[in-house]
Formats: sequence, structure tokens, C-alpha cells
Amino acid sequence: MKLVLDGLYPPICELCGCGLSDGQALCEECSEKLPRIVSPFCEMCGESFTGMIDGSFDCPNCKEISFHFEFALAAMNRCDETLELVHRLKYGREIHLAGALGKLACGALADRRFQIALEQKWPLVPVPLHQSRLRTRHFNQAEEIARVVAGISELPLVKCLTRVRRTETQTRLTRKQRMENLRKAFAVRETWNKKKPAALKGAPGVVLVDDVFTTGSTVDACAKVLRKAGVKRIAVLTVLRG
Ligand SMILES: [Zn+2]
Ligand SMILES: [Zn+2]
Repeated sequence: MKLVLDGLYPPICELCGCGLSDGQALCEECSEKLPRIVSPFCEMCGESFTGMIDGSFDCPNCKEISFHFEFALAAMNRCDETLELVHRLKYGREIHLAGALGKLACGALADRRFQIALEQKWPLVPVPLHQSRLRTRHFNQAEEIARVVAGISELPLVKCLTRVRRTETQTRLTRKQRMENLRKAFAVRETWNKKKPAALKGAPGVVLVDDVFTTGSTVDACAKVLRKAGVKRIAVLTVLRG
């Protein structure tokens, strides 16, 4: 089957269009050029620091907020190329890009703080989409990314969250408006709960997975309901720091 598809669509790099023979979505050169997040960055939200730091960095995003997760880390910073890949997955429905983005997301798991999650096999919990959006998009990009991360990291994929309230698009809202918008938007799935009532309580922690971390309000709303359900430790993994 693969041979047939390769014949129809010769494999090319999704960014530069050069020919590929190794079954990857990106050529080595394009992949290496993508801006990975490397130290120094905010220990809470993964925002990269530029310039010299002396003493503790006053992260503009995390100033005066306390999140319901321990820390969030993205694999890459936003740039034209990384945004293009995420937007094509999300809005262009190019589901095949989840493979490359999930693989890139795994880069962040090298951070020492994810060590315990990997050792204790914390479940990967994707940020859910509302049913109505799922109908138009056909898939949840966070879930597709989490599925790839699960395959590579050997952490279980657990879709225990659901979006119970449709929220309007968040991009033009301030943080305060986003928080209000997201209040009560998420819940732990009841059916999942009944099937495995103790599983969430028993899990030492979970890794929330999303495509982009911008202000953190979406993952924070998810973390809040997971905490309420008895999850003690929550880390956040995303592909991009928006
Ligand atoms: Zn390329
Ligand atoms: Zn921060």
C-alpha cells in the first residue's frame, strides 16, 4: 500500500519541497532549523529568555498567576515554519503532519522534570475539542499529537477529558477574558470515570498534551478539573510556545 501511495505522491519535505526517501515529513535541514526551546526559559511556562539573566527572571506570562499544573514546556518556539506546520495540521486538516509534530514534541521530554513522568508512566491526556468543532475538523490535533508521543515515549494515551461547553475562539481575548471563557468548559468524562473509577485517582500524575501553549489558560482549565478528580501532579507538554 505504501509503495502505491509513494508512487502517487512522491514524498517531499513539507516545508521546502525537496525530495525525501526516508519516510519523514521534513528533510533533515528543515527539521534542524526549527527553533527548539533551550535553556534559559521560564520554569513555569517555558517562555524563552533572550539576553542575559542575572538572578531570577520575571516572566511576563507568569507574573501574578498561579497555575494548576506544575510546569509547562513546549518543544519549539513559534516562527513562520513551526506555525505553518501547526496551522496546516489544525486548519488544513493535514493529519499526516501529526507524525512530525509529535516527534518534535518529544524533544521536550528530555527535560529532567519529565523524568519522573517517564519512569512512573504518567498517562498522556490530550486537551479535548468540543464535539461541534470535532465535526468540522474531523480530528483533534492535540489527540493526534499525543498519540504519536505515546508511541515514542511508551506513555499511555488516556482520553479522559471532555469539552462540555463550546467556547468561542480565544485568539483575540485577554488572559482574563480567556479564563472567564474557559470556566467550566472541561470535565472528566463520565463514561471513562465509570469504567475506571480509580484510575485517575491512582495515577501519580498526568502529562497534559496540546498543540500550542499561549497564555496557558486552556491547559490550566484542564489541570483544574484533573486536580478536582484527584490527580496530584500535572505537567504540560506542547509542540509550540505561542
Ligand atoms: Zn526541507
Ligand atoms: Zn513563565
